[in-house]
Amino acid sequence: MYLIEYEKGLLLFDSGTRADVDLVKDYIVNTLSRPMEDLKLVLVSHAHPDHSGGAFYFQKMGVPIAGTDLLNEWYAGVTGFIVYLVDVALTYMVWMKKKKEGDKLKNLFFPRKLHFDFLLEDGKKLPVFSDWISLSCAGHTESDLSFYHQKDGILYVGDNLISQKNGFIVPYPIVNPKAYKESLRKYLELKPRKFLLAHYGEVPYQEEHLVRLIRTAPEKSRRHGNALIPIIYNFMKKFFFVH
Ligand SMILES: [Zn+2]
Repeated sequence: MYLIEYEKGLLLFDSGTRADVDLVKDYIVNTLSRPMEDLKLVLVSHAHPDHSGGAFYFQKMGVPIAGTDLLNEWYAGVTGFIVYLVDVALTYMVWMKKKKEGDKLKNLFFPRKLHFDFLLEDGKKLPVFSDWISLSCAGHTESDLSFYHQKDGILYVGDNLISQKNGFIVPYPIVNPKAYKESLRKYLELKPRKFLLAHYGEVPYQEEHLVRLIRTAPEKSRRHGNALIPIIYNFMKKFFFVH
């Protein structure tokens, strides 16, 4: 998550999980010594528990949330409900891998449908923080958004790029491989100065890393229906036999 500080207010990319909301509140109030009302907008890049799960709870505190309504299709209906349960389970799996001693199990379940205060469109300025624009960059899910600060050349890409040594790897899932590659090509055209990645940190723009990712990104979708079992198997193997 990135909290962008302005004199006029604070902007948050993304909402994090439900369990992150208090953490952000504590940081704003106790570390930045600013009132919670200074948080003017929470953006949601896509429908995954670690990106959209906290949004409802920020909104409940009176903070406006912004995203695309297409996000609500991700967890809609019976299939959507199964995807929701799997996504929450995967979030707990990540937590189990990363947790430190003393970390307590927290509730990560959240409402599947969001009612955005602001709907974001491709190429349009963000509300309140008009120096940023939102970009439709789908493929990881059906409706991912990236956020671009043209003047400073900063591009928040959510989960679309996952950093690793010497470049990037693709996220999981890739539900629309064609759209995903188009999103990466959009980044190539923009040539930002740096990327803000949801996982992990800031990375300076290097064209060859992006070109390599476009070349090696899968041609077929990788989603829960065809890729989940090996993921769970590898996790169980590592978690129970390495720990
Ligand atoms: Zn994601």
